[in-house]
Amino acid sequence: MGLDPNVTKYLKRVERALIVSIPIILDDGSLQIFEGYRVQHSTVRGPGKGGLRFAPNVNLDEVKALATWMTWKCSLLKLPLGGAKGGICVNPRELSKNELEKLTRRFTTEIINIIGPDIDIPAPDVNTNAQIMAWIMDTYSMNKGRTVPGVVTGKPIEIGGSVGRNSATGMGLYYIIEAMCEKLNIKLESQSIIIQGFGNVGGWIASLLYERGCKIFAVSDISGGLYYSEGLKIDKLLEWTKDGNYLKDYKDENYKLITNTELLTTECDILIPAALENQIIKENANEIKCKIILEGANGPTTPEADQILFDKGIYVIPDILANAGGVCVSYFEYVQDIHAYFWDLERINKELKRIMIEAFEDVYKLHKDRKITLRTAAYIIAVSRIAKAYDLRGIFP
Ligand code: NAD
Repeated sequence: MGLDPNVTKYLKRVERALIVSIPIILDDGSLQIFEGYRVQHSTVRGPGKGGLRFAPNVNLDEVKALATWMTWKCSLLKLPLGGAKGGICVNPRELSKNELEKLTRRFTTEIINIIGPDIDIPAPDVNTNAQIMAWIMDTYSMNKGRTVPGVVTGKPIEIGGSVGRNSATGMGLYYIIEAMCEKLNIKLESQSIIIQGFGNVGGWIASLLYERGCKIFAVSDISGGLYYSEGLKIDKLLEWTKDGNYLKDYKDENYKLITNTELLTTECDILIPAALENQIIKENANEIKCKIILEGANGPTTPEADQILFDKGIYVIPDILANAGGVCVSYFEYVQDIHAYFWDLERINKELKRIMIEAFEDVYKLHKDRKITLRTAAYIIAVSRIAKAYDLRGIFP
């Protein structure tokens, strides 16, 4: 890239990281203190944007990495936003609804000075949802003395959320895999699919591909996976997991229980990791047997594994492109909140497809022209735009 070494130095660090303690009186009257984080990696192209994760292994380094990915993702899609992320180290399944609400509201208050429509706009991520976004929006608004819908995205539609936000990441993955199949001259509906993670991202892409006629051989959640060589009934499984049931408890005599480790190395055409980071690693990369990996999760493939997959001739469609549909529709939600004018689903999906396909075409062309991986191509485009923005703005003072 010929990147200015000063820019590299700058981009290696996050602009701001805030660590907060969140004290909560639990339902049994005892006090528990949780640790939370909000990190802004770069705001050179606009306010920070990125999800909020509630999980037991959340830590500052993970949040920093996720914030950095958001910088590249927003840049790749040409959204006028920067990269941010947040999280709380907690297992939300161990909390009651009342405790979860208190945790969310106190966390919001602790980070209130560094979020806002012009500063940094959180959104849902692992184990956070529209209800949690509603509590954040309400807490922020109560503190400011006015309703501020644009402070978070992924809100319920009734309070300024956008149609199509829930399905956006899955929809984006779908547009990208459709475009990739076209480039490779293969029929999407005849591909066999395996998906790790059956939450927002995994569930939606499973549903879209199932409706398209693809055979989904295996899916998994944190409890383990289900496999059936004739294809799983995804609509039934979505119904089952809707109320929090685990996949491992689903009863169908044809379905075989498999582990997440087995799932990743089961033969298929398209493998979609849609759970967590660091799943495809140097220890299992050689065992992966698919044509295409479509990264639904952020950072599911480690750099060592990436090289092994490249040598094996497996196409990896990188996270910063593949799963960017979520932040794209989050951006639409933010625009709609600020304008107080809301779009219909047809417009959302049309604009989403336009932006995703434009980014895909740029990445695919550079990958072909320079004979580099899709990931390297995506990074070159994303980082170049950030570097240009630094160049134009200069380093203050
Ligand atoms: P989610 O909480 O809705 O679902 C996560 C799924 O992964 C669940 O099925 C869970 O059981 C499973 N899971 C958790 N730990 C696991 C483990 N150790 N092994 C196997 N499965 C496990 O979360 P989500 O919003 O679907 O996010 C999934 C991934 O996609 C994350 O990496 C997230 O950062 C990324 N992502 C999400 C969005 C979005 O809009 N929600 C957008 C872009 C990227």
